[in-house]
Amino acid sequence: MGSSARNRALRAAAGGGIDAEAVVAEARALGVMGWVRPAGEVHAEGAPDAVEALVAFLGEDVPTERARVEGHEQFAIRGVSAGVFVVQEHQATAHHYDFRLEVDGVMRSWAVPKGPSLDPAAKRLAVQVEDHGMGHNDFEGALGDGGVIIWDRGTYEQGGRVAWPEALERGHAVFVLHGAKLRGGFALQRTQGGAKPQWLLIKRKDDEARPGSDITAERPESVVSGRPLAVARPSSGPPARDAGRP
Ligand code: MN
Repeated sequence: MGSSARNRALRAAAGGGIDAEAVVAEARALGVMGWVRPAGEVHAEGAPDAVEALVAFLGEDVPTERARVEGHEQFAIRGVSAGVFVVQEHQATAHHYDFRLEVDGVMRSWAVPKGPSLDPAAKRLAVQVEDHGMGHNDFEGALGDGGVIIWDRGTYEQGGRVAWPEALERGHAVFVLHGAKLRGGFALQRTQGGAKPQWLLIKRKDDEARPGSDITAERPESVVSGRPLAVARPSSGPPARDAGRP
């Protein structure tokens, strides 16, 4: 990449029917960063000559407008599924939601004590846990003294300026969820490393954001059975440590 001070960014509207793979190949050959959507929108940034060359490649009379240089480190296809996500509500010793994203054939996983939120002001602690296999995504039922429901699931798109999985390794990953309950842009931001890295799961401000909402309370049901998680009550032994809490 050249000096970012000399870089320029353009948004182009090439229209549908664009060959996204060909645009990516050309951008990479030119050293241009940014993204292309199959619907035809292109964000190109880099050396002005290279950006102009990419726009010329898109065709004559493609409308363009100046854009902010965002510091992209890749040229990616946006608006396509990168895989599946699942959120499994899990009553174990502590109640939590397991948030899992498919990355390179495994499910990267975080335990979110309060669950995800559609409120951009709600920064939810997400403790990174071990990767799970794809086969676990379909599991709901009794587990130990508790149980698991599939609280939400769907597909997701990778976003941000940095390629995945490096974005996760660097501790800042942006993505778009297409679930039954969770929709729109989210970010995972690592706040603490170590054996059990801590992250924050944050809804980004977009058309799907719902300030002040509480999606886990509004929509407690399994997306598979339609029923909420049955909270197991121990039939014998000492009461749970958190018994009596609201
Ligand atoms: Mn769990």
